[in-house]
Amino acid sequence: MEQRLLQSYRDELMQLEEKSNLRSLPEIIHRERDVIRRGRQMLNLSSNDYLGLASDISLRREFLESLTPENFLPSSSSSRLLTGNFEANRDLEDLLCRLFGAESSLVFSSGYHMNTGILPAVCNSRTLILADKLVHASLIDGIRLSKAGFARYRHNDFEQLESLLYKNHADYERIIIVTESIFSMDGDEADLRRLVALKKSYPHVMLYVDEAHAVGTRGGKGLGCAEEQGCIADIDFLTGTFGKALASVGGYIVCSRVIRDYLVNKMRTLIFTTALPPVNLMWTRFIMERFGSFADKRNYLKKISYRLREQLAAKGYECPSTSQIIPVMIGDSGSAILKAEDLQRKGFYMLPVRPPTVPEGTSRIRISLTASIRAEEVEHLISLL
Ligand SMILES: *Cc1c(COP(=O)(O)O)cnc(C)c1O
Repeated sequence: MEQRLLQSYRDELMQLEEKSNLRSLPEIIHRERDVIRRGRQMLNLSSNDYLGLASDISLRREFLESLTPENFLPSSSSSRLLTGNFEANRDLEDLLCRLFGAESSLVFSSGYHMNTGILPAVCNSRTLILADKLVHASLIDGIRLSKAGFARYRHNDFEQLESLLYKNHADYERIIIVTESIFSMDGDEADLRRLVALKKSYPHVMLYVDEAHAVGTRGGKGLGCAEEQGCIADIDFLTGTFGKALASVGGYIVCSRVIRDYLVNKMRTLIFTTALPPVNLMWTRFIMERFGSFADKRNYLKKISYRLREQLAAKGYECPSTSQIIPVMIGDSGSAILKAEDLQRKGFYMLPVRPPTVPEGTSRIRISLTASIRAEEVEHLISLL
């Protein structure tokens, strides 16, 4: 009986393998900007360390000097609502408020906790969520866990969004528009100002923006696309992760005092989990305090991203990206795997992205540029594509 139970899992894994969609955890060793896999050393073009801060030893050295056995706390040992709310939490949230010029902020264990926790907390059955078709899996899970009504609009199709608002506005107490600023898989971005204008056309519409790939990389102070587009104060739920450009781990929201108080009372992924370790919060604050000074890295990243996108287009690749996330569209999963392996043999660690992460037939190689990649390495890569 037990064997038969396992057999059905085995069958499913075999089906995944037949479609070239079977996944496994890569065994890799890290060497600063490089990774070593099966004895081959390659430049890592698959991480989200967009500013190259996670591989910067001098930053870590400086941070370590501020640590003592007394303030090095690797665990908070409790939920924030019990005894896990350390000074490091308040310090980081104060800094977020100061940087964003916001009334309030709240830090979470990860971007995944953030997106699966906020929407279920702030929505009820008289809420409608209107989300971009391409939002991240964590947002989809948050929507599924909520009691809200739910519709998706075609990617960045604000006309369709407008008509959905028009059709539904009278039937709901509250509507929340959900989008990313830079999108994870296509690397393109949303026009936040237009979304702000749209939400303002009804008194009961709010806007939720996930800046996971934009915080650190966009805006004069590195606060994201909302800073770049001058609309920080108009976004009701302005969220992001510390796990990408910020070289750390955790998620955050910048919001009104009321929303923060409400989340503290209602958000299950905040209440029922151990708070981030203080040492990690201190490291995030250490990085964020230096944010303004990374403008050179942001500009350089912008420059090499533009160069790669331009050259991909010249080679005839369809390239939706406007950012450092640059998909090379291949089509079927098998070809995407072969192409990725070929590029790996040539020293560039890039991975194929396949269904269900992206729609069937749009398998691709996803390049994540980071500010630690040299211009000549970008040129070499271009010559191989
Ligand atoms: C990576 C990502 C997340 C998840 O953040 P983590 O901190 O890694 O859990 C959420 N939203 C988007 C758009 C992401 O790309």
